Amino acid sequence: MKTIGLIGGTSWESTVVYYRLLNRMARERLGGLHSAKLLMWSFDFAEIEKFQAVGDWKAAGDAMVHASQSIEKGGAECIVICTNTMYKLADQVIEATSIPLIHIADATAAEINNKQSQRPLLLATRYTMEQDFYKGHLRVAHGIEVAIPEDAGRTIVHDVIYEELCQGVIRPESKQRYLDVVEQTRETDSVDSIIFGCTEVGLLIHQDDFDIPTFDTTELHAKAALDFALSE
Ligand code: GLU
Repeated sequence: MKTIGLIGGTSWESTVVYYRLLNRMARERLGGLHSAKLLMWSFDFAEIEKFQAVGDWKAAGDAMVHASQSIEKGGAECIVICTNTMYKLADQVIEATSIPLIHIADATAAEINNKQSQRPLLLATRYTMEQDFYKGHLRVAHGIEVAIPEDAGRTIVHDVIYEELCQGVIRPESKQRYLDVVEQTRETDSVDSIIFGCTEVGLLIHQDDFDIPTFDTTELHAKAALDFALSE
């Protein structure tokens, strides 16, 4: 089994989900006392969020490169960045390291195409929903054209991520607001699935809440990482 290098802490509320999923899946696949071989870098998210909020992506990129090179030196055999947003800096990480980066959007796209979804709705941070690094990757590398909520909906989705989910706060009212955002988007756009495009979104909403398929990026990414770790 290969050692998976995790870059986490953004936020740790979802990094623990990765940790649990990877270990549980390793036990399911290998049995007995097996668990995943992991090496983790975990940021203080307050420092990273500050860079994001002021748009200092140079500093955020430097931090990501430092983390990636550190886990590579430590013996990681691949890199798993445990967030969608920070894939904005994927190219810098790829350039600065010599182990494979397991891209969260590739793992998600494979399942979207498997399920033959044509028009997924992306629920994510404002950066991921509005900028092109993620939507563009899905479009160019996988032929997937996503929908996003209108501006007021994007504000709700983004604010709940940073003000609640990343701080361990799960509120039924916020869940209802997410469901409303999805409903409103479905009134004007023929979306046929939903991407939980932020690694904390699955803490608030679940497949059972919807009558169309959902794609939880945390689950799909963890599965892709374990597939890599167990491959020849
Ligand atoms: N974990 C979130 C994501 O998947 C948001 C936190 C971050 O900015 O990294 O995008």
